[in-house]
Amino acid sequence: MDIRTIPDLSPATRRDIFERSSGVESVRDDVCDIIERVREEGDVALREYAKEFDDVTVGTIDITDKVARAADAIDDEVLEAIETAAENIRVFHERQRPEDWREEFEGRELGRRFRPLSTAGVYAPGGTASYPSSALMGIIPAKVAGVDHVAVTTPPAENISQATLAAIHVGGADAVYQVGGAQAIGALAYGTETVNSCDVVVGPGNRWVTAAKAEVQGDVKIDFLAGPSELLVVADESANPELVAADLVAQAEHDTDAAVAAVTANESFAAKIAAEVENQASELPREAVIRDALENEASGIFVARSMSEATLFADEYASEHLSIVAEDDEELLERIDNAGSVFLGPHTPVAAGDYASGPNHVLPTGGEAKREGGLSVETFLRSSTVQRLSKESLADISGAITTLARTEGLDGHAKSIEKRQ
Ligand code: NAD
Repeated sequence: MDIRTIPDLSPATRRDIFERSSGVESVRDDVCDIIERVREEGDVALREYAKEFDDVTVGTIDITDKVARAADAIDDEVLEAIETAAENIRVFHERQRPEDWREEFEGRELGRRFRPLSTAGVYAPGGTASYPSSALMGIIPAKVAGVDHVAVTTPPAENISQATLAAIHVGGADAVYQVGGAQAIGALAYGTETVNSCDVVVGPGNRWVTAAKAEVQGDVKIDFLAGPSELLVVADESANPELVAADLVAQAEHDTDAAVAAVTANESFAAKIAAEVENQASELPREAVIRDALENEASGIFVARSMSEATLFADEYASEHLSIVAEDDEELLERIDNAGSVFLGPHTPVAAGDYASGPNHVLPTGGEAKREGGLSVETFLRSSTVQRLSKESLADISGAITTLARTEGLDGHAKSIEKRQ
């Protein structure tokens, strides 16, 4: 793993690190073609892409009837783990549900109310690894929000992960389709003969999935771009380099496009982390994926001149996952605004949040954390404002209204006020 000194990074390197696109840009044209074909040819295109990209002949696209059976068939231990994770995710997301409110502002009764979207499409990835956890992370907030119909797509395979199907069942999805990649996002956004179009399309995925979400955005609501995993660890010498390295290789094993980095102010400590990463990578079955991910421009160990410079770097990096392992972790966190999900202290590995601690693991990547938070109950809600004015409170503001209306040349607006006085 490369060790680089922050003051020595060239402007071009800084741009590559902070504006990382994780390969999404490079597949944009292909993804546009895929989506166009799904819109034109529907299920036929889904079946052909399953053959081309997943090497599977798909008969029935709708596999809703398979999920309950999968939950019955899998090991009790796996089912129990899914149920534990589901419960913790549900409890955390129930806490997020906003209340409708009304308040009086000098005679004007004003408020907001929240209503769920009717339909949601959740992408549960499953190309090079299976992600029952992502199925739970997508379905549960939608159900907590009150979405009536939650559809899930997951890539087809000779043997689709039974754990993913079981998680889809435990999460409580209403429909399940075996479709992967950009074609799945196209189907959820525009519909096919089998797949109904949805109000919102959410979920993480590789570069094709992420580029497809960017493409359909506007025609349909999306959560945000949740691409290949990222982790930035901010650590001082109080951290255990073995544990910092363990978290880095864990996120690197997701995808060759993953970005994993650590920032610290101590050069010899940086070298200890690098040595640990090297040792641990060679012990893991997905070593090849990890090594590719470590080569990415945004991966590496960065040495700052001070922890203050380290936090500035972290803020600019705007990582999907931010882990802070340092004596004054809360103080360092105060200085970092941009992060998808924050993990504090030595006993809070990122894998806890990946699976079972409760917060959502579907998080913005590629610097999107500067603009977006992670998947939440609010993603599946829309709000309306509500107002009721008394005669007196209308009179109080009528001068401002009629003046502004006539300034805008809208006499009808002004008259609608004057007729009430
Ligand atoms: P995936 O389901 O995202 O992608 C598999 C699909 O990619 C296949 O079904 C296929 O249709 C398509 N595909 C593969 N090669 C293609 C090609 N050459 N052309 C067109 N389409 C092609 O599964 P994955 O690949 O295992 O990736 C999962 C991703 O999700 C990883 O990058 C992981 O880091 C990420 N992830 C992100 C988060 C987050 O919150 N940001 C959470 C969990 C997982």
